[in-house]
Amino acid sequence: MNDALSLPIFQIIGDIADSMGVKAFVVGGYVRDYYLKRPCTDVDVVVVGSGIAVAEALGKKLHAKVSVFKNFGTAMLRYKDLEVEFVGARKESYRADSRKPIVENGTLEDDQLRRDFTINAMAFSLNKDSFGELVDPFEGMGDMERCILRTPCDPDVTFSDDPLRMIRAVRFATQLGFDIDDVTFDAIGRNKERISIVSKERIITELNKIMLSPAPSIGFYLFDSCGLLPLIFPELSALKGVETRGGRTHKDNFIHTLKVLDNVSRHSDNLGLRWAALLHDIGKPRTKAYDPKVGWTFHGHEVVGCKMVHSIFRNMKLPLNDKMKYVQKLVLLHLRPIILSEDIVTDSAVRRLLFEAGDDIDDLMTLCEADITSGNDAKVRTYMRNFELVRRKLKEIEEKDRIRNFQPPISGELIMETYGLQPCREVGDIKSAIKDAILDGDIENDFEQAYSLMEKLAAEKGLKKV
Ligand code: ATP
Repeated sequence: MNDALSLPIFQIIGDIADSMGVKAFVVGGYVRDYYLKRPCTDVDVVVVGSGIAVAEALGKKLHAKVSVFKNFGTAMLRYKDLEVEFVGARKESYRADSRKPIVENGTLEDDQLRRDFTINAMAFSLNKDSFGELVDPFEGMGDMERCILRTPCDPDVTFSDDPLRMIRAVRFATQLGFDIDDVTFDAIGRNKERISIVSKERIITELNKIMLSPAPSIGFYLFDSCGLLPLIFPELSALKGVETRGGRTHKDNFIHTLKVLDNVSRHSDNLGLRWAALLHDIGKPRTKAYDPKVGWTFHGHEVVGCKMVHSIFRNMKLPLNDKMKYVQKLVLLHLRPIILSEDIVTDSAVRRLLFEAGDDIDDLMTLCEADITSGNDAKVRTYMRNFELVRRKLKEIEEKDRIRNFQPPISGELIMETYGLQPCREVGDIKSAIKDAILDGDIENDFEQAYSLMEKLAAEKGLKKV
């Protein structure tokens, strides 16, 4: 018995296929993931005949709803937590300007040949006489054992036909920890320019899967070595390299960034936090300068980087929503805890950081600790000790002053109402002076004290209550 097919649905599909006189197979990711012991809930069934007809018969039998996509010749049905998709076996041919193939009916082997990698081209038979048998014409099993990604046919043809497959090669290598076979890898280099016909949306889906892998750096190093990096992520590629002047060399910010990304990934699965790690120094190439007195500087790179987040997200067709704002905030603030830890940790500096980071303070601290990539152990230990102090202070001050979700106790409306003012600079000045006084610890985060300060400031400006 094949454990991958132990659910009754697989035998039922086989029976239906037998009664219709067609062959049916489970193919692709489900077969691969079974051998890799990865959870998989997407099942692709290929029918040498009409996939839709088998799906409809199955729907009738199970009293389940079948969604039919006539244009694509596919049908989908949910069964327990599986999503089962049916398609007829197909043969594909391509035109140069599109990744959309011209499709005709084909054999199972035609269908396996059009798949991207040998490990994704294996099939389990579902018909009764051969139920559970593995059909593996391109030695996917051997590649799986050797942990190799290889295309079933000439890789130049595979990648030129559908250049998204080059990105998928890097994605699978990163996710699974597989190597890309040399012949396949070299073909990526030759076909890299073809990536221009792939939509940004498809690329970002793969990039996010790379970002969520255990060690995402693998993917970005591979993109770099095959030549795709400047084409799909020029801002990241610009971080590469070192320069020496006056005997001083700055670090390679690409290597550093990828270390930070892996460090963060060891501690958190939060995709936004991982993006913040990838982009935390993205403003460095644009702010790089050499000052003979101090050496290399990157002044304001966090501000420039924060602005770049928006354009990178826009170009990559990532949503420009609160998750982007979260990445921007972390990029903007990423130096703050380290500056704090280098200095005497004053209560007011901690309050300001809490106020600006709000609920994202813990993520910011995770990013900052990951940012310490120095090879000098003593230096790392000192930083980590200081961070511990910053964390303790953050906790102490938050418990005392409740700054995290701080809203100044005196609103602009109250100031306007009290002194009969329209919106104007005076209102803003009083409001921010009250906020500063609280953050600096001159008054407590309390309505009475804030109200008295408002009265004092208003009197100084010659304002009268109405
Ligand atoms: P995952 O489930 O991790 O997203 P997957 O590749 O198994 O990866 P799909 O993207 O749904 O999931 O693809 C299902 C199958 O379809 C693959 O296993 C592969 O056989 C085939 N496939 C998907 N995309 C392509 C492509 N661009 N070119 C060729 N075959 C592809």
